[in-house]
Amino acid sequence: MQHHLENDPQYKGLTVNAGVSTPPVVNPYLQEKKKRRSFTPAEYTEQIRRGNITVLSQAVTLLESQKSEHQVIAQEVIEKCLPHSGRSIRIGITGVPGAGKSTSIDAFGMHLIHSRNKKLAVLAIDPSSERSKGSILGDKTRMEEISREPNAFIRPSPSAGSLGGVARKTRETIILCEAAGFDTVFVETVGVGQSETAVHSMVDFFLLIQLAGAGDELQGIKRGIMEMADGIVVNKADGSNIEKANLAAAQYRSALHLFPLPPSGWSPKVMTYSGYYKTGIPEIWDMVYEYVHYTQENGYFDARRNSQAKYWMYESINEQLRNHFYRSPEIEKALAIKEQQVLHSEVSSFKAAKQMLDLYFKHSEQVQ
Ligand code: GDP
Repeated sequence: MQHHLENDPQYKGLTVNAGVSTPPVVNPYLQEKKKRRSFTPAEYTEQIRRGNITVLSQAVTLLESQKSEHQVIAQEVIEKCLPHSGRSIRIGITGVPGAGKSTSIDAFGMHLIHSRNKKLAVLAIDPSSERSKGSILGDKTRMEEISREPNAFIRPSPSAGSLGGVARKTRETIILCEAAGFDTVFVETVGVGQSETAVHSMVDFFLLIQLAGAGDELQGIKRGIMEMADGIVVNKADGSNIEKANLAAAQYRSALHLFPLPPSGWSPKVMTYSGYYKTGIPEIWDMVYEYVHYTQENGYFDARRNSQAKYWMYESINEQLRNHFYRSPEIEKALAIKEQQVLHSEVSSFKAAKQMLDLYFKHSEQVQ
């Protein structure tokens, strides 16, 4: 027999042991478990009504999904939850980055849950999330204390879609949270742009968090945002900053005097507090509940909700029309050509728009 070096006893390590059969790549048991049983809309509603947070989260995920089959189920769930909604106080919270929104929401939440026996849902509308592909607002890690509370539900901003679409989803999430028994809903947004208007159109009370700056406080604030506020609270009134905060509050008060009285009949109040040291917080909530009581008495509370419901109906019509138009393949093709014609001044923008809409309506008629 020819001598093979590898058979030499000194290379014993090279011999191959009898192996075991390769296990399947995915454990079939896990695969079985992973397939989540999908609920019917009635089952979703029942579980939500029982306060099942896991199912509530799943329903919100469906609602946020781009898939039309998910949307169909989500809309049915919303429809079923609607009669059980509306019984919370909805509060919009805004402020520039760094104003202390998350610190404050954490502190407000702990106060409401433990001193006022409330159940709190924290939602967010993050106008930047589409670009940054991930939302910062409503992030659990920013609200450490309430994220451990069983009576708090925190949901970050829906991340995809136009501001209108994101806002609509947040508004529908409010309905689901209310049906699940949350009696206080926060909707947080960054005080930098259009998103305040969206938040304002879905809340009962709009709270603006401000900072005491180095003197000219009023410069950086858009007048429109101040006009929307039902309450302005100056944060970080602690340590050596207390005096500055008081001064800022006085300036806001006198600025507010120059505005006409809002339709609620309520003159917005200005207060100072510290979210970090948790001082001045019960007073803020006394004010919010005073407002709620006042506007419930004078009828403004319901009137505001009614006009919001109407506003959102028109918003939904606009959104659906827009989507239907832009998602049509014919339109998409024709738009690309039309765009070039407009760019080369071959047709005016207005005429181009009219031609596109004519094409759309003609196509819709043919489809019918
Ligand atoms: P957000 O960007 O508006 O959510 O602001 P944060 O809650 O993240 O707060 C921004 C910074 O301000 C953090 O470093 C906080 O610790 C700090 N901060 C928040 N609230 C207070 C406060 O009441 N007093 C002081 N001194 N610092 C605060």
